[in-house]
Amino acid sequence: MLSNAMLDALSLATLYANGNNTKNNEVTDALVLPLKSKLVDILDIGNNSDNVDQSEEYDPMADINKVKDRLTSFAEDSVGQPGMLQHLLNPDVDYNIYAAMPRRKELIGTYFTQKERPNLARLLVKDVDRYSYKLHCSTDSCSCNDDNEENACVFRLVPCPYEGCEDRFSWKYREQHDIDCQYKPVPCPNDCGMDIPRRDVHIHVRDRCRLRAAACPLSSFGCTSVVQAQDVTSHLNENADKHFMLIANRMAEYQTVMKDQSNRIRMLEEKNEKLERELKQKTVQLQSKNEAKAVANDVKKLSKRLASLEGTCKTQFKKIEVDRRNHKK
Ligand SMILES: [Zn+2]
Ligand SMILES: [Zn+2]
Ligand SMILES: [Zn+2]
Ligand SMILES: [Zn+2]
Repeated sequence: MLSNAMLDALSLATLYANGNNTKNNEVTDALVLPLKSKLVDILDIGNNSDNVDQSEEYDPMADINKVKDRLTSFAEDSVGQPGMLQHLLNPDVDYNIYAAMPRRKELIGTYFTQKERPNLARLLVKDVDRYSYKLHCSTDSCSCNDDNEENACVFRLVPCPYEGCEDRFSWKYREQHDIDCQYKPVPCPNDCGMDIPRRDVHIHVRDRCRLRAAACPLSSFGCTSVVQAQDVTSHLNENADKHFMLIANRMAEYQTVMKDQSNRIRMLEEKNEKLERELKQKTVQLQSKNEAKAVANDVKKLSKRLASLEGTCKTQFKKIEVDRRNHKK
């Protein structure tokens, strides 16, 4: 816990030291080393035990949590910008800050190695627990490994036995870790017989468990049955008749709809035909009307011309008549 808090603190501090500008993502000696030495200072190893009365009720975890609190605010304190951690806890915070964290943690990990951090954490534990020995043993170095289980130190470091978990803890606290470990396989709450890592149980129950509730695949045809996922096939087999009726009913419904539709189409076609016929008639009528008009125009023109010709003829006749009379005289 302390080792991880140290890594988090230093990573956050470098992020803050650079400001929120994630483009300026460089991790340099000049940036990290002063911060690292500040961090080792605030661990204050040698001065962390408040255990003046050395009583039996003394809880070394209380002092360890104080160190952890100092580590939590380290990033803000070290770059002199209080309140920024608050900003990070805000759900609207710039996603880039979160995105920069794993990468930065990785980079910082090379400055503050997996060897250094647990060693410092161990020193801290010994520091606060130097009177009661509740978290570590009283020998100078906790390397009291003995091949004989009975003699071996209860505080010896053991790795978590479950696949995927990288935690290490005192053998004494293995049961406590067992209760919390997210990688411990636990039995499915549906009693399907499977053991699933604690952190994946909800996914198993929701999507994978053969005993999870599953709707019949023909629910859209009206089957309301909900069965266990493993029983879907047998549900389909056992209810073949019922499902057949559901499908047949649905087909009949579709047929009625189709009939209605084709009736409607026929009606529309007939209407369309009628309209087409009417249109043709009108066109023909219109054409003959136009032709008649043209003929009438021609007749008009012709009679005009006839009238003028008549006029001309009359004038000519008159002339001829006058000439003839004159001639007789
Ligand atoms: Zn020991
Ligand atoms: Zn574990
Ligand atoms: Zn299950
Ligand atoms: Zn069904």
